[in-house]
Amino acid sequence: MNKHQDPAQKVTSADEALKLLKEGNARFVSNNLVPAAYKESLEKTATQQSPFAAVLTCADSRCPPEIFFDQGIGNIFVVRNAGNIADREAIGSFQYAAAVLKSQIIVVVGHTECGAVINAHAGASGLPGELQGMLDDIAPGIKGADSKENAIIANTKAQVEILKNNPAIKETGVPVYGAHYDLASGVLTWL
Ligand SMILES: [Zn+2]
Repeated sequence: MNKHQDPAQKVTSADEALKLLKEGNARFVSNNLVPAAYKESLEKTATQQSPFAAVLTCADSRCPPEIFFDQGIGNIFVVRNAGNIADREAIGSFQYAAAVLKSQIIVVVGHTECGAVINAHAGASGLPGELQGMLDDIAPGIKGADSKENAIIANTKAQVEILKNNPAIKETGVPVYGAHYDLASGVLTWL
């Protein structure tokens, strides 16, 4: 592909959406990005959107999904928070993406060196403000993980399960995938 997926053209299957994401990450990893056509995309998306995929990833500045999936404006619907937690806001957002915008897949992407998960795994306690509650949301899903890397993967899988088992998400029939992003190489591994 020599340009981004046309944001005005609907993707109608999960397989196709997954393929587009895999191809985008391959382009990113090989430094073979397609040229951005933002101006053209603005015109096509000013009053409508049909993002083919919905993505939950960490707020970490080093894992921007539009970049590591090499996607343009209008292609992916993104929710980000520290630890890529499928909280109420994320679930509601994805319910909207799947049911109304017709996104074909939901993908949860965790990443190496995720500070939120590493701190939850280390058993951090008594943190001020909302920090502790955030780590407490991560803790149940990583119980028993024997390394920080395994804790990060366990967290991603736990968030996938939360989304998969949510009745409103289930009702849309949209599949939920997990992936692990390597900050050093830019490579995404599907779980
Ligand atoms: Zn993170």
